Amino acid sequence: MFDKILIANRGEIALRVLRACKELGISTVAVHSTADANAMHVRLADESVCIGPPPARDSYLNVPAILSACEITGADAVHPGYGFLSENARFAEILRAHDIAFIGPSPEHISIMGDKIEAKRTAARLGIPVVPGSDGAVASEEEAFRIAAEIGYPVLIKAAAGGGGRGMKVARSADDLAEAFSTARAEAKAAFGDDAMYIEKYLSLPRHIEIQVFGDGKGHGVHLGERDCSLQRRHQKVWEEAPSPGINAKERAEIGARSAKAIADLGYSGAGTIEFLYENGEFYFIEMNTRLQVEHPVTEMITGIDLVNEQIRVASGGSLSVTQDDIVFNGHAIECRINAEHPATFQPSPGKINYYYPPGGLGVRVDSAVYQGYTIPPYYDSLIGKLIVHGRDRPEALQRLRRALGELIIDGIDTTVPLFFDLLDAPDVQSGDYNIHWLEKFLDRTLKA
Ligand code: ADP
Repeated sequence: MFDKILIANRGEIALRVLRACKELGISTVAVHSTADANAMHVRLADESVCIGPPPARDSYLNVPAILSACEITGADAVHPGYGFLSENARFAEILRAHDIAFIGPSPEHISIMGDKIEAKRTAARLGIPVVPGSDGAVASEEEAFRIAAEIGYPVLIKAAAGGGGRGMKVARSADDLAEAFSTARAEAKAAFGDDAMYIEKYLSLPRHIEIQVFGDGKGHGVHLGERDCSLQRRHQKVWEEAPSPGINAKERAEIGARSAKAIADLGYSGAGTIEFLYENGEFYFIEMNTRLQVEHPVTEMITGIDLVNEQIRVASGGSLSVTQDDIVFNGHAIECRINAEHPATFQPSPGKINYYYPPGGLGVRVDSAVYQGYTIPPYYDSLIGKLIVHGRDRPEALQRLRRALGELIIDGIDTTVPLFFDLLDAPDVQSGDYNIHWLEKFLDRTLKA
């Protein structure tokens, strides 16, 4: 087991990792930018190192500074959290070359899944159902027309290097295709410096359902069920729940078993998430994230398994603490992402929190790094906390969420909390009848009203 872990992140996820380390008796090193000198992750860590000025590229993405921090403190492993360097294969490789463990999969697996064409090809080879589309990159407009005619419109043009919903365009008919192809390609070139494009069938009203998987790197894989993350705004998840209100136990067991087998066959090590779109009873792979996800707590709440603890165990050469048979799903969990943003315009709202009161009680979990008197810096993403509730069933979880949101006080800045009261009042949310476009339509309606 490791003696000392450096946490290469900030905010709630840095605290989340720190908590797992403490429970394992592992010392912690926080790194921080000058803007985060007073941050909670710095206060709670055993040691801390300032790694640069506020902009992330000079601090949280500054590989030489993070390596120096490892050397100064004698850390023997790095946990990257999510975002920042968590899916950077080069970073994982550099750590390996310095004999420092990267708490995540191998650089090779990060690279495969970081290239969406390669990822899709690998998924298909491992027996995971994929969205019908081009087999690899589409070289020319003529080829795009040919493939689109084969799979049928509407189609989606996607960038191999894509992320955050960029470099993606829908073509509803052959009339739109040429333009969609060239715009998406130009966007991908500008955003990622890579204009390899591929085409797939555009699914009109799918749910976003992802499977949490874990591999031990020695040929064993398990799945921890699904999370439904269909409530999205601009491809950003807003509310996540487990289990999904849209699939049944048989579907869960089937897609879960396929995913676990794929992970085992790949020899994958650590936590991963296989993302699917689900429509008319079918699952279609879209991508795999080779890291811990923001929404991992809903899985923890229904399985009772600490995913960060498992990541650390596996990265240090140990085995998973559970086999598939040990993993049982209990009740229902919902997570709300609380952002420092205006609840209707989504304008970021950094600034000082004058008063803070987090909710508590049975089945309530708050993962946040804010405190009363804390000033949210303007440099980073606007997620300031996650409220997670657990109930014996979905109605109980919904009731508990309403109760917990009612207790929460964050004064001094705008937050997205009011949005969650609106969602709780929406009949479609109450019945679980929503898809990936539902939230955008709902927001359009409420803005017009
Ligand atoms: P990114 O890495 O940019 O987030 P993804 O491949 O994960 O890209 O897709 C992001 C979102 O785009 C999905 O959550 C879904 O809402 C939408 N999407 C992706 N592929 C399709 C598809 N074939 N049909 C319909 N929507 C899609």
